[in-house]
Amino acid sequence: MPGLSEFAQIALPVAIHETLTYRIPDALKDSVRLGSRVEVPLGPKLTTGFVVGLLDEATVDAKKLKPIRSVLDDEEPALIPEIIELCRWAAEYYIAPLGEMLRVSLPANMAARGKREAILADPTSAQIQPHDQPLIEELRKRPLALSMIFDEMQVSRSAIARLRDAGVIAVRDRLRDAEGVRYDRFVILESEAGALTPKQQGAVDTLRARGGELSVRALEHAGVSAAVLSALVKKHVVRIERRARRHTLDAFLAGLGDAAAGEIRYSAEQRSAIEAVRTTFGTFAPFLIEGVTGSGKTEVYIELMRDVVKRGEQALLLVPEISLTPVFASRLKERFGDRIAILHSNLSPSERYDQWWRARRGEVDVAIGPRSALFTPFQRLGLIVVDEEGDGAYKQEETPRYNARDLAVVRAQFRKIPVVLGSATPSLESRENAARGKYTLLRMTKRVEARPLPDVEIIDLRKERAEKEDKGFVIFSSTLKHALREVFVAGEQAILLINRRGYAPYLLCRECGHEFRCRDCSVTLTVHRRVGQLICHYCGLRKPIPSKCPLCGGEVLQPIGFGTEKVEERFLREFPGVSVEVLDRDSTRKKGSLVAILDRFRRGTTRALIGTQMLSKGHHFPNVTLTGVLNADSILGYPDFRSAEKTFYLLTQVAGRAGRGELRGKVMIQTAFPDHYAIRHALHHDYEAFYEEEIRFRKTFHYPPVTSMIAILFRGEQLNTVERAAADCGRLLEEAVQPLAGTRIQGPAAAPLARIKGVWRYQILLRSPHRSALRRAVEAVMLPRKWKGVDVAIDVDPINIL
Ligand code: ADP
Ligand code: ZN
Repeated sequence: MPGLSEFAQIALPVAIHETLTYRIPDALKDSVRLGSRVEVPLGPKLTTGFVVGLLDEATVDAKKLKPIRSVLDDEEPALIPEIIELCRWAAEYYIAPLGEMLRVSLPANMAARGKREAILADPTSAQIQPHDQPLIEELRKRPLALSMIFDEMQVSRSAIARLRDAGVIAVRDRLRDAEGVRYDRFVILESEAGALTPKQQGAVDTLRARGGELSVRALEHAGVSAAVLSALVKKHVVRIERRARRHTLDAFLAGLGDAAAGEIRYSAEQRSAIEAVRTTFGTFAPFLIEGVTGSGKTEVYIELMRDVVKRGEQALLLVPEISLTPVFASRLKERFGDRIAILHSNLSPSERYDQWWRARRGEVDVAIGPRSALFTPFQRLGLIVVDEEGDGAYKQEETPRYNARDLAVVRAQFRKIPVVLGSATPSLESRENAARGKYTLLRMTKRVEARPLPDVEIIDLRKERAEKEDKGFVIFSSTLKHALREVFVAGEQAILLINRRGYAPYLLCRECGHEFRCRDCSVTLTVHRRVGQLICHYCGLRKPIPSKCPLCGGEVLQPIGFGTEKVEERFLREFPGVSVEVLDRDSTRKKGSLVAILDRFRRGTTRALIGTQMLSKGHHFPNVTLTGVLNADSILGYPDFRSAEKTFYLLTQVAGRAGRGELRGKVMIQTAFPDHYAIRHALHHDYEAFYEEEIRFRKTFHYPPVTSMIAILFRGEQLNTVERAAADCGRLLEEAVQPLAGTRIQGPAAAPLARIKGVWRYQILLRSPHRSALRRAVEAVMLPRKWKGVDVAIDVDPINIL
């Protein structure tokens, strides 16, 4: 057909940086469009590919090109041009394959890779040997993925080859699109011609009364039998259609309660922030709202989002981790009703697929979600808000390593709309952009209704005496103990934060000094007393707590330091009769337990909650008057140039939780470094002062945001191959960045965590004032090269360099 393209450029969700050209068979010429998801062969496998270009002529011999197998989208192409454009930009900036960027812009089950599977072809063959029987029996039930046959059933490759050659089984490739999506069958009234029995007529009447469409289930519920239905289908009176199930998120939002805000009169600071953004609707304008916790930032976001929706546009709200902040979702639900899509990490594949398509079809005005929600396929986007913009969760720590906070600004720029980044503790990157005039800074310095900020008190651990059994570690200082007693006497509640789960971070032999380390990771094993095990927090290795040292036979094995479990043990001893619970990854593993623990605390059934960082964000407990940070120094010691920023962020978050209700809150921070500026400024909620000192440090030592950084991580099982690859690259990079004045190379050297799960890790850190030139140099050196047995990851603007 004239006018339709012959070839398509396809981006694939694999580690290939170029797009590949495929032939479009005649039968598919109508349906292959820009942005379509298609099924294509890649080597011996099938995979999902994304159409990012249509061509009339191929640059290579057309006969050699493989054809597209099928188009996976029924209606509209899944990818809209705006998202393709954004992903192109991101792929280039983050040095990631375009197909990988496009993959993360979609729900996981919309970018499937093909699986090779075996099916039974001739179950009666005489070639079947007795030991093949277990496999044949399984294959009688269903086709099985080859990976499963090899890995789990332990069938050898040669056995599979023999069975295939004998024609007993066939191996085929199968791509399962939208796996996990649940479907409903709908009955649709088509015509009413022909004579109908009374029962059939009754069914037609029911259908017509409901607008001509009803799910099969609902119709059966109304008394229409399957026989009547199939008769109607045969007479072409109705048709049955399969549709992806619609999900309401009521279950997620249920039981959140008390989100209803009263009538709101905006404070002067809120009003001027709203006004400033409002005047920029329809133009690109980046804002940074630096507002103390409780200054009413969220209300500002919601008001702006309402404005945008009134203009007939759509709004996007990014949050670091939505399952911890459902309160947010319920506040939005209250304002926007059903025209909101919520994309949180605990959605089932079917729910996520449904939410995504609702956004794609334009059935919602507002979407809220974590970093991947930035790629919501809105076509009338008018505003993007990024809450807690300094949170590390916006950075994806696997390929493609993008930062949704920064890409939000890019999307806003392409789309010519405002973008609002908000935080009580902005990232140094964003604050510096404001200082340079790239972002407009809006400060909100007061809490709404003149609620006071909580008092923060610092407890100098160097002046405290540890209990003898604790070997120099202070768990509860006398000041904190005293304050906790008062809280419990007054019938109020307390939160205790400790950034480590388990009983103690390591076990030490008192005789020979041996410490128990993981076999596969360069960390010590954490003591978990309750389950009686030593556990590696990186790879999950578990072994029983030994009674003797394996080296010297010594019998005095001492747990050193403390985690949630030990804090709970000590709490019970210090405050007998006060109910307490632990909130950490161990105690919340069971589905529903997180909500249950929080609920008991909110209702006052538990009086104290001991928790890890999970507890520092988003929650609101009106009766909590004291928050104790048991060890503020846990992050400061990391070999990471952001450790001060991370500490300040954590402490401010924690302090922001306290005293949000009627009662005045207090925060006590235990530290051995009371003079460190991250701690001193957190004491006064003084972000600006912290920023001034921190940016000076970054300038002096040439760290981001003053320079731009790229980390290159080399991983592999053989130490010497990893070392060699890193050394090779180091030399080549050294040459490549020679002309770039002020560029610094750190490494190659073992990463601070030199080994995880048996994999060695080496890294090179590059810093340079020349952002794009540095990226080009890294690209030129790294992209054409491969090292056998070494996986190389390039991380542009890395957050985690451990
Ligand atoms: P932030 O996001 O800055 O921490 P929020 O927007 O969550 O602050 O506001 C803190 C609390 O104050 C919320 O319970 C919110 O409903 C309430 N609030 C915000 N603005 C106002 C206002 N102008 N009048 C009364 N209450 C407000
Ligand atoms: Zn381990």
